[in-house]
Amino acid sequence: MKTIKVNIVTPDGPVSETEADMVIAATETGEIGILPGHIAMVAPLQIGALRLKKDNSTVSVAVHGGFIEVRPDVVTVLAQNAELSTDIDIDRAKRAAKRAEEALQAKSDKLDAQLMELDLKRAITRINVYEMK
Ligand code: ATP
Repeated sequence: MKTIKVNIVTPDGPVSETEADMVIAATETGEIGILPGHIAMVAPLQIGALRLKKDNSTVSVAVHGGFIEVRPDVVTVLAQNAELSTDIDIDRAKRAAKRAEEALQAKSDKLDAQLMELDLKRAITRINVYEMK
């Protein structure tokens, strides 16, 4: 079966370089499934899970925004932060979620609230991706 190369890169360096049968990504306009031979495209990503399917297993990665570039034989994800499910510190993510929820309840202005919602989204994504592993 044909595979597609997947590179996930952050400013700190590569997070994953692998091959997949299929990549599922949460773009700003919805979830897309990418198979080898997909037409070239670039799309902004949501804070969410990226799933790499290979044989009968799935590797999940928490991707915190950024962009996905698709070419027929390679997918590149560029994000500020990204963590493989196996690298997620679940206690830290739960603490971050609790902190963000408490801060949201005590929010003072709209801009603060938007930042806290992003903090919460990152933490929930980490928790979800950890649970997918
Ligand atoms: P926290 O409040 O726990 O620091 P955060 O959402 O503010 O979370 P980020 O600014 O998104 O953290 O990330 C800072 C660095 O820490 C990045 O390298 C990111 O990959 C890593 N990181 C953050 N949370 C976790 C986690 N729960 N498990 C593993 N790595 C994490």
